[in-house]
Amino acid sequence: MRAGSNMTLAAIRERCAALYHELATEYYRAGAGLQEGLNSAAILDRYADLAALPQLRLVEAAWQSAGNDLERRRLGLLREHLAWLYDAHAGRELNDRLHHLEATATVSIDGAPVPYRSLQGMLVNEASRARRLQLAELRAGALEQFVPTHLEWFAEVQRISGELGYDDHIARCADLGDLPLASLRPLCVELLERTAGPYEAALGTLLAAAGIPRDEAHSSDLAHLFRVTAYDAQFPAEALVPRVSAMVAALGLDARAEGRITFDLEDRPLKSPRPYCSVIAAPEEVVLVLRPVGGLSDYASFLHELGHALHFGYCDPQAPWEFRHLGDNAITESYAFLFDRLTVNPHWLHRVAGLADPLPLARLLVLREAMMLRKYAAQLLFELDLWTTSDPLPARAEWAQRLAAAVGVQQVAAGWLAGIDPMFYCARYLQGWLFEALLGQQLAAANGPEWFVQPATGQTLRQLFARGQDQPLRALFAELGEPGLTIEPILARFDREMATCWPTP
Ligand SMILES: [Zn+2]
Repeated sequence: MRAGSNMTLAAIRERCAALYHELATEYYRAGAGLQEGLNSAAILDRYADLAALPQLRLVEAAWQSAGNDLERRRLGLLREHLAWLYDAHAGRELNDRLHHLEATATVSIDGAPVPYRSLQGMLVNEASRARRLQLAELRAGALEQFVPTHLEWFAEVQRISGELGYDDHIARCADLGDLPLASLRPLCVELLERTAGPYEAALGTLLAAAGIPRDEAHSSDLAHLFRVTAYDAQFPAEALVPRVSAMVAALGLDARAEGRITFDLEDRPLKSPRPYCSVIAAPEEVVLVLRPVGGLSDYASFLHELGHALHFGYCDPQAPWEFRHLGDNAITESYAFLFDRLTVNPHWLHRVAGLADPLPLARLLVLREAMMLRKYAAQLLFELDLWTTSDPLPARAEWAQRLAAAVGVQQVAAGWLAGIDPMFYCARYLQGWLFEALLGQQLAAANGPEWFVQPATGQTLRQLFARGQDQPLRALFAELGEPGLTIEPILARFDREMATCWPTP
């Protein structure tokens, strides 16, 4: 191993790129079921020289004294990446342990062991409410077993932020991750306030129609009501790639980006049931991994991952490595949302999916999206408070209360730490969502309600994709004429769609 303090900036950049390629390949192969298990710890160990404070300090000093804006942005991203590597290396044993715990946990159903990870799928598809609640209780019991490890993880995250020189974890994420957490807080409060009335009224109507008492409704009930499997026949697995590819071709783009994007659709026993996009080297090696089973949620997942794949498959090969592989992931999430949200768009449901009357399906999807938006806003507000404390135990009941207030149904309190990404990925999702609403509004205004098959839309996207992630997302709001992050486009859409789908009697 090279001595840490002797590395040059050029050597750090070169080794970061090599490590990135190895890790991305490893994650792709493990998720695609091409190998058994994930050996990321062994790779991180080979690059332990990068995960050291002297390297981070060297990049930090270069960042502070950078001569121009471009170099400063590149170094800012490298600095964040090195801090992430430091974190990933320090926490690799605990992460593997958590992963193993969840992967091997089982519960007993009628005397037979059932994997913890299968429970959510069973619960969503269970028609009997009593049985659903029973499954939810078993899942809560399993989550309870993970609590000691999650508590250990919480302390570890805070310890590492301290080692990196920060007073608290939020300061670390705001600084290193360049996250506008202070601006997002009031926006989340306002989002919750301004969506509450129509959301609660529509939820009441939905639950009443399903015969579920309002004050007993549980998160497992919503998971079942929103599964939309009744429409699966209109979304056959074999039509997925041809239909979506034809739509992308109408945009003047190629779903496989002239060969740079590979669709890994083969069925393998160890393949992840969840689709994902692996950016092994952007733009030339991007893989979209999917096990097509058909159904609307399959189409939505595919479109989401395709948004990521097209973004990286069409980025400019001449752009700096950092802009093609690192940067503000709120940007790539906004393109993923732009594509997966087509499944909520009645024009798309009619034109591309061939639904004669998309309204009954759109009603469910619009309400589900409102639920998700409120959930993420409440989750971010909770996390902003959580990381200011050193003991997360008292926050357990509070999480369940705050999420129940936002979503309108009871929550499983034991899951209060399980869904947390320590780097505030929910803040990236939320910003991506806000930007998608703004971009979608402008694309529809410029190119009409069927903007998703217009070459002019493809031109705009091509220009955006070419940049990779060269700026924080908030800078793109300014380029589209907004002074900063704004919730107005998403609220305007919410009001319009709720009024159409859930009119007040
Ligand atoms: Zn995504």
